Amino acid sequence: MERQYTNEIEPSKDRVRVSGWAHEVRDIGKLVFVILRDREGTVQITFKKDNLDDKEFDRAKDIGREDVIDVMGSVEENDEAPNGFEIKPEEFEILTEAKSPLPLEIRENIDSEMETRLDNRFMDLRKKEIHAIFSFRDKVITSLREWYDENEFLEIHTPIISKGGAEGGATLFPVEYYSNKAYLRQSPQLYKQMLMASGFDKVYEVGPSFRAEEFATSRHVSEFTQWDVELAFIDGVDDVMDVLEDSMKSLLKKMKKRGQHELGVLDEDIEVPEEDFPRITFDKARKILREEYNHVPEEKGDLDTEGEKLLGEHFQEKGHDFVFVLGYPNEKFYYMQEIEEDEAASRKFDLLYKGQEISSGGQREHRLDVLLDAMEEQDVDKSNFKFYLEAFKYGMPPHGGFGVGLDRVVTKMIELDNIKESILFPRDPDRVAP
Ligand code: ATP
Ligand code: MG
Repeated sequence: MERQYTNEIEPSKDRVRVSGWAHEVRDIGKLVFVILRDREGTVQITFKKDNLDDKEFDRAKDIGREDVIDVMGSVEENDEAPNGFEIKPEEFEILTEAKSPLPLEIRENIDSEMETRLDNRFMDLRKKEIHAIFSFRDKVITSLREWYDENEFLEIHTPIISKGGAEGGATLFPVEYYSNKAYLRQSPQLYKQMLMASGFDKVYEVGPSFRAEEFATSRHVSEFTQWDVELAFIDGVDDVMDVLEDSMKSLLKKMKKRGQHELGVLDEDIEVPEEDFPRITFDKARKILREEYNHVPEEKGDLDTEGEKLLGEHFQEKGHDFVFVLGYPNEKFYYMQEIEEDEAASRKFDLLYKGQEISSGGQREHRLDVLLDAMEEQDVDKSNFKFYLEAFKYGMPPHGGFGVGLDRVVTKMIELDNIKESILFPRDPDRVAP
């Protein structure tokens, strides 16, 4: 008989087969109640002394918490059972026993330390709320992929191991590559740009990126999943922001419906943006922070964490969870400088969601001579980028793109406290196992 998930059982069915873990076991003499848990939910199994021969009933009494069991039986209505019905077993098997005590308590209403949870992640993931995070994440990926496929972006896979990095040497993880040294990628940046010279026009890649930073924040990990996009023949940076904005709007709209079950389990809701995302300049962002919050961020680089948070609050009060900040000072050679209003600003943007950066992107510099000047100015060792620069010599269209931190998107959508909650086996400076 074919196995069914607990959420597929209907009381009208006379016989079913379910398999899963013994979530709870209650032995009250002539009755043994087992709550069986599978991927989709739980169901009560009621073993009755009167219905089973002695040997079978003794076997039922041996079932321990978290044993894996397989049960075939009839479905009967019972108002006192959690779902209004229960299974009366006719045949059952203990497939494997679970040792006791359990390394982690997984019944509802018992919280454990994050580190203990991560040390025993396989067990932690058995909890319904934790499981819901990952089925939500799965649906986020499906929804985004749908949008990019419908809009004719090609899904690509570029190397994880590479000779150099786009984001600077200090945060690279070295790997031994035969007799040479190579690095784990910080982003697929250079490769997706090169593909713009290959006539791919619109591409996206979902894959891991690595940052060897000594961070201890709730939004950084050493290995994360990036949703990377690049498109060619753009008229300006707004075309790039449009793609990001439209795909995010579509994602939220889809997830409000598609993620209903998970949102229910997690007691969360999704606000679908009705209006366009505000697009403000970096200067304007600094002005708001200075004048309204008395907050003066550093002159160079991104907004600081506090600045992002305050700016997020500022726009959330006006009903915007998302805000684009455009025109950062040019700190990366590959962004096009030049912005109409401000000579010192580059065509680089960040997208903030609920007060946190979830994406950086912009228009790239596609003119080789200007690109080389920028590298010179920023003391970038050109010899590390030879293969990249070749792609600019023989016809490179204007292009731009962005990278979205998928883990941050999930974290923010369902308001998790820490990015690690959204990653199955997170990596940080102190953890590389399990
Ligand atoms: P931050 O300033 O927040 O450290 P970043 O500007 O260094 O991030 P980018 O190089 O712009 O990061 O990467 C693009 C996106 O990838 C970021 O907007 C973020 O969503 C995600 N991301 C970058 N670094 C990390 C990390 N260490 N952990 C998780 N996500 C990250
Ligand atoms: Mg960034």
